[in-house]
Amino acid sequence: MRPEILQAMATAQIHHRAPECAELYAELQPKLQKFLYTEQTVFLFTASSTGAMEAAVQNCVKKKVLNLVNGAFSKRWAQITEACGVPNEVLENPWDVAFKPEQVDEKLKTGEFDAVTLVYNETSTGLMNPLEEIAEVVKQYPDVFLLVDAVSCMGGVKIEFDRLGLDVLLAGVQKAIALPPGLTICAVSDRALKRAEEVKPKTYYFSFPVMLKYHKKNQHPTTPSTAHMYALNAQLDYILEEEGLERRFARHEEMARMVQAWAKKYFDIYPEEGYWSKTLTCVKNTRGISVKDLIDRLVNDYNMRIANGYGDLKEKTFRIAHMGDLTPADVAGLLHAINEILELA
Ligand SMILES: *Cc1c(COP(=O)(O)O)cnc(C)c1O
Repeated sequence: MRPEILQAMATAQIHHRAPECAELYAELQPKLQKFLYTEQTVFLFTASSTGAMEAAVQNCVKKKVLNLVNGAFSKRWAQITEACGVPNEVLENPWDVAFKPEQVDEKLKTGEFDAVTLVYNETSTGLMNPLEEIAEVVKQYPDVFLLVDAVSCMGGVKIEFDRLGLDVLLAGVQKAIALPPGLTICAVSDRALKRAEEVKPKTYYFSFPVMLKYHKKNQHPTTPSTAHMYALNAQLDYILEEEGLERRFARHEEMARMVQAWAKKYFDIYPEEGYWSKTLTCVKNTRGISVKDLIDRLVNDYNMRIANGYGDLKEKTFRIAHMGDLTPADVAGLLHAINEILELA
């Protein structure tokens, strides 16, 4: 996290019904819209990403939702759907295989569904599902809404909310946006706001109609994390004005290429080729190293951290993040440190 962000978090606090808070809210909205290439509504939830996933499922499904599951976080969409008692069907792929548009088309053809949940960037596997192609298919079905978890890639890759015709696009700020955890950005289409009125969601904290009522006054229904709002404002200024969106995306491309080339040289990459993530790489442990020992050495001797594989993939894979405000120089330093520890030439 950049020190300027921590400084912004420490801004003298304001009351959430004071005019200053509404001004801050009003200032954030167009910046968020520019950030997500949309003219529609962007909500902020004082919650982690999972809260907004729950909101999407509660507000946007009248008939039945298709949960596309090929990793731990897409599985969470299904778990949330079931916990909320919303009718669903799960379509599962092996975790190293991306969803193809034909698979989605085949399911939607049945006419059973009016929503689809998708994780764009699976943080558990380093796999990016082809959002653009899947969105094209979903667009052919006017009643079907596309609900997208972009938690670990929003801010690292371009996601054009309006052009893709998305209905919900959400991400907590603690990953590629590089802010402290506790706030989630959630773009919502006009038609999703309309459907939410009809659905009458069985939630108050995560109700789109309740959020919208206050949104119109530049307020939150409940007390938001104002410290985060200041931090987000500073970070959006930095992203939009100082770094620039295109340069930010190019930096993420460059970091991804560096890690992918390194992983191919010394190990292998877990997901199928063509769907490698731009923000984190899941490396196949083809050398049979102790991932735990590697992480311990990195933390203790280099003050760096990577992540072990997720769930069953523990020790079989490890994950290197290359997102947020990290630089290619940071990534080079990390790869150099790993080479030193593993004595790779
Ligand atoms: C981290 C993550 C989540 C969960 O986020 P929380 O902020 O912990 O609720 C959901 N989806 C993806 C893809 C993630 O990477």
